[in-house]
Amino acid sequence: MRLSTILDILFPAACAGCGGADGVLCPACLPSGRAIQRFQLDALHVAALGPYDGSLRRAILAFKRGRRDVGAVLADMLARYLTSALPAHSVLVPVPTTAARRAERGFDQAVLLAREAGRLSGLGVLDILRQTAGDAQRGRSRLARLGARGRFRCSAGKLVAEVRVVLIDDVATTGATLRDCSAVLTAAGARVAGALVVARTP
Ligand SMILES: [Zn+2]
Repeated sequence: MRLSTILDILFPAACAGCGGADGVLCPACLPSGRAIQRFQLDALHVAALGPYDGSLRRAILAFKRGRRDVGAVLADMLARYLTSALPAHSVLVPVPTTAARRAERGFDQAVLLAREAGRLSGLGVLDILRQTAGDAQRGRSRLARLGARGRFRCSAGKLVAEVRVVLIDDVATTGATLRDCSAVLTAAGARVAGALVVARTP
């Protein structure tokens, strides 16, 4: 038996939504299928497991503070949605956080969500978006500038041609980030089928 398993039995993790003892995210705190929100950002179809408030918001915050077990439960929910709603040949592309945040946290939450959801759903994952610093456009080639919109660039150049992409992120707020990422991937030749996020800010 692994040490982590023994520790789980001795000290079961509290529910990240309500602090109760009934699982990492207890049945009452798991977003239900009825909470799924679908909306459009220009031509981009977006789905969110639920609104960014209450137990779902607390769960996301706990994950960002390092509760990987909560991240795994959220990724499982993303995978269930992907399996039920998407054709099999899509590829997941996480929306990256800034390098500074990733260094501070020790991980990138969207990358972890995409990897785990990809593993569970059998979809491939391409971690090809990078967030650039504000003035990173300077000194780059014209082609590289054309392939970058706002804060993001695609590290794969033209390698994603013909790939059908689903963007993955933890929270969608204004949608500007998803729009930027979609534009960058489209410029790189990908077909952006949509975006799936854990929660949408009301
Ligand atoms: Zn709970």
